[in-house]
Amino acid sequence: MSFNNFNFLEKKNRFCYNIFIRICFIFTVLAVLSLSLIANGKILRPVLSSSSSADTTPVVIIDAGHGGFDGGAVANDGTSEKNINLSIAKSVKAFLSFKGVKVLMTRDSDTALNDSEDKIKTKKKSDMQNRLKLMTDNPDALFVSIHLNKFTTSNASGAQIFYSGNLSRSEKLGENIRTSIVSLLQKENKRTLKLAGKNIFLLKNATVPAVIVECGFLSNQSDLALLKTYEYQSKLAFCISDGIINYLKCGELNGY
Ligand SMILES: [Zn+2]
Repeated sequence: MSFNNFNFLEKKNRFCYNIFIRICFIFTVLAVLSLSLIANGKILRPVLSSSSSADTTPVVIIDAGHGGFDGGAVANDGTSEKNINLSIAKSVKAFLSFKGVKVLMTRDSDTALNDSEDKIKTKKKSDMQNRLKLMTDNPDALFVSIHLNKFTTSNASGAQIFYSGNLSRSEKLGENIRTSIVSLLQKENKRTLKLAGKNIFLLKNATVPAVIVECGFLSNQSDLALLKTYEYQSKLAFCISDGIINYLKCGELNGY
């Protein structure tokens, strides 16, 4: 074999070797991409729907209490309920959306839902009716309203949940949220779930499973200090969304 022939064969081998390396590289990239897509699919797929159809994805209406002209309860230091309600509600939406749950917000800014500018009483009535309309327009939804409490004395503290007596599922929804808040965030909270009185318009007229989560007391100094922090608002939001998801999981298993 001449030197030239040897050189030619060496070049040919090197060429084949390079092709082989490139094929291996392409296969490796494809394998990694496939694994990545599968993993992402597991994260992004709605965890609560029984199929991939969008129609089966649960809808949760998150109602940030008050807003706009209606500030809600006000703490001694001037802290307004409406802003903390909105912050918690937005984080609940973020957590639920991440889990593949469809969320409708009654408001996502500092506004009320009244149709016309009139007397406060008329504006409040219109605001409430428009929040209720979201329930009647979405008969398969859940309704979770976020509020803060205020009491005449400062010793009352902790979250409390009220449920609508219109549908038995409201109590189950409320109990799931209460369990998540107590087990994850407020271990000392002994407050039990309460049936809402007839004075709570949205729960009295609820057409879907509905609860109000009173996240804490503006009249209690330690509650107030915590409620004013974004960190605690986010923790509350996580617990509320955890309770909603647990309720939805139970519903899927038990058919309610
Ligand atoms: Zn309120």
